[in-house]
Amino acid sequence: MDHPESCSSCLKPPWLCVCAAIKPVGARTRVLILQHPQEPDKELGSARIAHLSLPGSTLHIGLSWPNLAAALGEGGQELRHKEWLVLYLGSTRPAAGAGPLTLVDRRGVPLDATVRPAPIRGLLLLDGTWSQAKTMWWRNAWLLKLQRGVLAPPRPSLYREARKEPRAEGLSTLEAIGLTLAELEHDPALLEGLLPPFRELLRRYRQGRRSWACRSRLSAPERTAAPHSPNAGSRQAPRRSAPGPSRHHLAGSAAPAPSGVPRGPGPRRGDPRGSRARSQPAGSVA
Ligand SMILES: [Zn+2]
Repeated sequence: MDHPESCSSCLKPPWLCVCAAIKPVGARTRVLILQHPQEPDKELGSARIAHLSLPGSTLHIGLSWPNLAAALGEGGQELRHKEWLVLYLGSTRPAAGAGPLTLVDRRGVPLDATVRPAPIRGLLLLDGTWSQAKTMWWRNAWLLKLQRGVLAPPRPSLYREARKEPRAEGLSTLEAIGLTLAELEHDPALLEGLLPPFRELLRRYRQGRRSWACRSRLSAPERTAAPHSPNAGSRQAPRRSAPGPSRHHLAGSAAPAPSGVPRGPGPRRGDPRGSRARSQPAGSVA
């Protein structure tokens, strides 16, 4: 650790470092996470945990890249955009009986399940708030060349346990990645393998918010903390009373919207993909 207040690997504050729980998950699909610079990913952000769990994955922070290869840090390489899938959640309700992952066309219409345009070898996620992801979407026109997928998670996000709001469809970045990989590779273990450190993160978060004041007296004695104030003495815990919506990836269970009609984020304001799907970018490429 080169900083007394955050783990140099997961960048979490010490009380939320779950590096010990991270085990490599061997997915064939390559994963690229593009994180908005203002997405701090400090407490409950899961993108870096997913990245650390997936050997060969890439997490880059930035706003725009000239193309997919540059986003991967592999300038000069020829990459087939159609072999990459970008997740967004949107205006499409998956067909009855369909799995959690539905491939959709540029209008958000599910592709015929019997037709797979190209084998998917890479998965790309935008990590940030809805508006951040929208910004990134607009700044990276090459995203339009990728295949698109919509997630309809079969169970609520684990976030729900840490948050007291009924955002049943919200998925963390890690969960969205795990679920998508499990679907793409027909291997539920890929999701299950990613979850333990995330569960541990949430467990510590819930526990820490109760007892952080006491612990912070040990780790940060210079701070004068009121023992029973959950916010006292902590530089991290009190910043955000609850995980923001930024890392929530909502299910594709929104009411169908006319394709091509820009819609606001509506009740799914927190979801980059879902909102994006109903907002201008999706419609504009139809
Ligand atoms: Zn750590």
